[in-house]
Amino acid sequence: MSRSHSSEEAFSGNVSSSRNTLYILGVRVDAVTFDETLACVETFIADGRPHQLVTVNPEFVMAAQSDAEFRRVINASALALPDGVGVWWASRRLGRPLPERIPGVDLVERLAALSADRGYRLYFLGAMPGVADKAAEVLRARYPGVVVAGTYAGSPRPEEEDAIIARIHAARPHVLLVAYGAPAQDHWIARNLDRLGVPVCIGVGGSFDYIAGVHPRAPHWLRRWGLEWLHRLVTQPWRWRRMLALPRFAWRVLWKSNV
Ligand code: UDP
Repeated sequence: MSRSHSSEEAFSGNVSSSRNTLYILGVRVDAVTFDETLACVETFIADGRPHQLVTVNPEFVMAAQSDAEFRRVINASALALPDGVGVWWASRRLGRPLPERIPGVDLVERLAALSADRGYRLYFLGAMPGVADKAAEVLRARYPGVVVAGTYAGSPRPEEEDAIIARIHAARPHVLLVAYGAPAQDHWIARNLDRLGVPVCIGVGGSFDYIAGVHPRAPHWLRRWGLEWLHRLVTQPWRWRRMLALPRFAWRVLWKSNV
């Protein structure tokens, strides 16, 4: 799994197969478990060169249908992680079942545990002012020894990039987590990846909000039933328009899998 996945494959439009990768409506998703993801993160850190990771959910897949640059970023990423029950469902429907789901917020927790264990330095960029700090505080209590080398809200506006990158360089992180929402965060990472020089850069959406307690996470039983999206719709109703991507995604996958 390298940064230079062929983009021809990406535009095949349906599930195209190589051993650990599938394409859902032309968008790459890697069939990896949590343990394999963390092993890749350690490999990328040891390698030292910058790598972009993305967490693909149905909203990503639908946005990538009309945003060719977003699709290119996902398909060229070092690792395209299967976030969201919709992607997991689609993989089964298309006959290439994914082994596990990797929700962004759980990934942040696992990275915090890994940092506590191995001393990797994390940097939290994005979310509303104070939220990343609060998330860092929660994680320090949960995973004693976790190294949060810096936090900064900033914004994804291009004119702030130089100053933000200077802050990140000063903190020398191994892992940069960017919470500017998709696709802004993923475009931000892609255009700054080489300049950042951080071995692992991941867009994590609303993860800091959940960890800091700004938004409640769905209870375990709802998550087990794959209904986290319903909880999100009830607790954050202003997302309804964006969440229309879910039925559109389901319809497109059903149509593809029936032809
Ligand atoms: N966000 C930000 N600056 C922006 C836009 C968004 O810091 O210009 C933050 C927002 O505060 C939230 C995070 O990006 O913490 C993720 O937003 P959202 O929930 O919309 O993203 P998703 O999880 O749906 O990708």
